[in-house]
Amino acid sequence: MRNGLMSKNRRRQKNKDLSKKIAEERILLLFERAEQNFKTHPERTRRYVTLARLIGMHYRVRPAREQKRRICKHCYQYLVPGNNCRIRLKGGMILTTCFACGKMSRYPCRGTSPTETLQDETP
Ligand SMILES: [Zn+2]
Repeated sequence: MRNGLMSKNRRRQKNKDLSKKIAEERILLLFERAEQNFKTHPERTRRYVTLARLIGMHYRVRPAREQKRRICKHCYQYLVPGNNCRIRLKGGMILTTCFACGKMSRYPCRGTSPTETLQDETP
């Protein structure tokens, strides 16, 4: 998997698709890191989220639905249900309340079953 390291020509369309894929993988990795560091180093998670957002913007990669819900729209806090955010299901929408800024974000809940996406930890 070390091909392409010697050439610096990255202007081909094929490479563009490849870099997009790499960007997606990097974003996924950053989210994994954020998840792992949340308990031990919560202050780091914001950095991971910021990096993930920057990569996404640079390569024009859209975050996955699951990833989108894990970031506060308002303050870009990494959200962990039951820890720093509250999640409620209302009329086919997922309502996320961020404890860092206190604001709510809404996401449509179509097509996915709420049990396999996010656990509703509020009574
Ligand atoms: Zn927030």
